[in-house]
Amino acid sequence: MQEKRKGLNTICTHIGELRDETFKGAVSPLYMSTSYAFEDVEVKRYPRYFNTPNQQALGEKIAALEKAEAALIFGSGMAAISTSLLAFLRAGDHVVMQNMLYGGTYNLVIKHFEDFGIEYTLTDGLEPEDFEKEIKENTRVIYVETPSNPLLTLTDLSRIAEIAKKYKLVSMIDNTFASPVNQTPIDFGIDIVIHSATKYMGGHSDICAGAVASTAENMERIFKMGIALGGSLSDYTVWLLERSLKTMGLRVRAQNNNAQKLAEYLDIHEDIEQVYYPGLTSHPGHALAARQMHGFGGMMSFELNKGLDAGIFMKALRLIKPSMSLAGVESTVLSPAKTSHALMPPEERAKQGISDRLIRFSLGIEEAEDLMADIDQALERTKKTASLVDSENY
Ligand SMILES: *Cc1c(COP(=O)(O)O)cnc(C)c1O
Repeated sequence: MQEKRKGLNTICTHIGELRDETFKGAVSPLYMSTSYAFEDVEVKRYPRYFNTPNQQALGEKIAALEKAEAALIFGSGMAAISTSLLAFLRAGDHVVMQNMLYGGTYNLVIKHFEDFGIEYTLTDGLEPEDFEKEIKENTRVIYVETPSNPLLTLTDLSRIAEIAKKYKLVSMIDNTFASPVNQTPIDFGIDIVIHSATKYMGGHSDICAGAVASTAENMERIFKMGIALGGSLSDYTVWLLERSLKTMGLRVRAQNNNAQKLAEYLDIHEDIEQVYYPGLTSHPGHALAARQMHGFGGMMSFELNKGLDAGIFMKALRLIKPSMSLAGVESTVLSPAKTSHALMPPEERAKQGISDRLIRFSLGIEEAEDLMADIDQALERTKKTASLVDSENY
């Protein structure tokens, strides 16, 4: 009989933990050894082989979180992404990827795939049909990110999985924005789930790591490419990541709650033009998000009213920090037009709905009321500057 699957926070705290048989300590012991015996052992262990005790323990936890048979831990999200893609794509193969990709993935594809002889197409939109119509004879992989960055657009995962089955493709998702707390894509038939564990899994803005989860068979293939490319994570960081994951359920659910409260607050705020958050009933992906996500997530974007300068606004914030990354316990904001989408021509940005007044907001675990107050004081100061500029002009 199969044992009943444990609940989220039980998996986070316990699954995969190593027992300290010697001292009976409460947490997994850390094995820093990079050199293990080769004789009279079942497994020949070596850090780059993803099989040290701590690497395997954490792999078990992440596999359980993603309802996968197996998982591997990588040195960064990009190591996880590049290894997974290269494990399934050979020279002459083709991959269909969405147009609004994470910047690092976009860079890998457009700068390097041609040299490897790997063909790619970026879709025009994020509907399943947009992916299907790009499939060719030599397509092997279909790759999605949902919710997307920065506008939190949703793509229907069961339909992507259906398309992958129909054309015998391997489906991959970058599940970083949702985290396994809010989305478990294997439920919908997606084959391979990838994370930048630098984000929600780490959760404290102090760990760089990645993870991939799938069937044992797929993971064997990713493992073979992984030992060749050498992107495994050091055991000390693996151990820190295990510690972080214990509170992932608590953190992410608190971040979801904050995002919902702030989205509702900003949605009716007189200084805010538009809010993009799947938890708002007005969001075009709301019904789909309710179906395929366990929570609406801790990421949102909002656009200031015309005449308000996003740069001034972000500098005026006192609690919320302008920051490149996301998903930490502290709230952060970022300007996509100045960072992730800076290289995109302004007309193309405008077409995608990314204006200079758009702000991406990663909710932390602070009290929602304090975040609202911080935004309000920053808006007041931004408006004063705006009226000063206006009075100088007239
Ligand atoms: C940060 C991020 C990555 C890359 O992860 P690193 O850990 O920085 O290599 C990939 N995808 C998404 C969605 C991310 O936010």
